Amino acid sequence: MYIVAVCPRCGNLLLAKVTNKTRLCTHCGFRSQIGNLKVLAKAESPKQAVILIQSLKKKRMLQKDSQILRKPYKNI
Ligand SMILES: [Zn+2]
Repeated sequence: MYIVAVCPRCGNLLLAKVTNKTRLCTHCGFRSQIGNLKVLAKAESPKQAVILIQSLKKKRMLQKDSQILRKPYKNI
């Protein structure tokens, strides 16, 4: 079993095996305890986990875009 989790330091999406105890963030290098991570999704295979990460990233990008659009204009 694999999990997709969020790095507590930078918010990067991490792929980790549940049998591991810690996971090093590929983005900021922070080592986090897998038991303390916020799990977004679970997957049976690494392939499935990668697909999950890709779709989560896409979703996040869309959310970011809509947040920017919703921001009210200043000085108007
Ligand atoms: Zn990180």
